[in-house]
Amino acid sequence: MHVDLLIRHGQLATMEPSGGGEAGAASEATPAPSRGRAMRDIGWVEDGAVAVKDGRIAWVGQSDAANREGIEASVEMDAGGRLVTPGLVDPHTHLVHAGSREYELALKLAGVPYLEILRRGGGILSTVKATRAASEEALTQQALVSLRRMLEGGVTTVEAKSGYGLNAEVELRQLRVAKALAELQPVEVVSTFLGPHAVPPEAKADPDAFLSEMMALLHPIHTDGLAEFADIFCEDGVFSIEQSRRFLMAAKQAGFGVKIHADEMEPLGGAELAAELGAVSADHLLAASRTGLQAMAEAGCIAVLLPGTSWNLGAKTHADARYLIDEAGAAVALATDYNPGSCPTESLQLIMALAANVLRMTPEEILTAVTRNAAFAVGRGERIGSIAVGKQADLCVWNARNPAYLVYHFGVNHVDTVVKRGTVVVQDGRRVG
Ligand SMILES: [Zn+2]
Repeated sequence: MHVDLLIRHGQLATMEPSGGGEAGAASEATPAPSRGRAMRDIGWVEDGAVAVKDGRIAWVGQSDAANREGIEASVEMDAGGRLVTPGLVDPHTHLVHAGSREYELALKLAGVPYLEILRRGGGILSTVKATRAASEEALTQQALVSLRRMLEGGVTTVEAKSGYGLNAEVELRQLRVAKALAELQPVEVVSTFLGPHAVPPEAKADPDAFLSEMMALLHPIHTDGLAEFADIFCEDGVFSIEQSRRFLMAAKQAGFGVKIHADEMEPLGGAELAAELGAVSADHLLAASRTGLQAMAEAGCIAVLLPGTSWNLGAKTHADARYLIDEAGAAVALATDYNPGSCPTESLQLIMALAANVLRMTPEEILTAVTRNAAFAVGRGERIGSIAVGKQADLCVWNARNPAYLVYHFGVNHVDTVVKRGTVVVQDGRRVG
């Protein structure tokens, strides 16, 4: 067999469950996220090799078997015993926005409450103001800088939400920018319409009318292929359970997959609603009830946890990853929540370290949460998120020999090489090509 690229002598985390576990052979028939303790099965191959042809994975196995089968490649890469994983997937970001909010840090450190910062024109409203004032070109340039950081950090697919326009014109502008970004650089961008992210000041008198205005955008957005998912910020003082149900049911009817910012601060029942509606994911979940988490797990709804946000906000409690995995048997994914307010970082590797130290997740669970399960959380689990024949060739070679090292040695970039759709796009941790 002649292939385009052959990576040899890697320690492969294929993220394809070995089949010997509880899932059994049935897991091969219907691809699904890894749930509960099965998240620790990372499909490990010692001294492995991966062959890539026409942007897809053509062969996976042990290096000596690759020799025996006579696989020849146009480009050969010796991983030298280093870790090889699928490209990382960041399934929750607010990528497209304008401005930054570092001036709020001094206020936060001085103990000024968030609501007071908001009253002074800060918080999300300052980002809305900056985003409304920004051109498509300016939004694009700012997002391109972030996407390059993400790619150099091993992220090959990212979800991007709108939600800083809060009016038809600017919400659509954010979504158009997100779509165009896919053509300008290698990271695949999955768009989510988050029109109901907050109630803008001009709509305070009638939030339901604002919600209806956002619902009226669902059909045009879907028809124009501007977003695959719809999402709402369900929270005390933002949108209620009833409003969230109304919006998400309309979104489902319009053909969207649905997601929900659920139970971040108050246990409103967002997790229960996600289960009821068959949401693809429910995100945050710090305050979610155990019944809600259990219902989500049973409904196959992925729990997307965002430990960077709770850590950066100085939260006293965090999402209960151990309950989700050990007791509820849920599929957990991890994301940056990259945004200019509550979590200004593009580093999914930092989030992985926090997942160990704050959420008490194991390195294997963490790797599953940023590859296989994150891919399912953005509706792409059948195409990306694992190293298997036929899947898209999105790969990372790390300056590490095992997943534990990535999590243990925190705050630095461990990426050596990134391959996107079969093409080497990062070398020595830097963008090439
Ligand atoms: Zn968010």
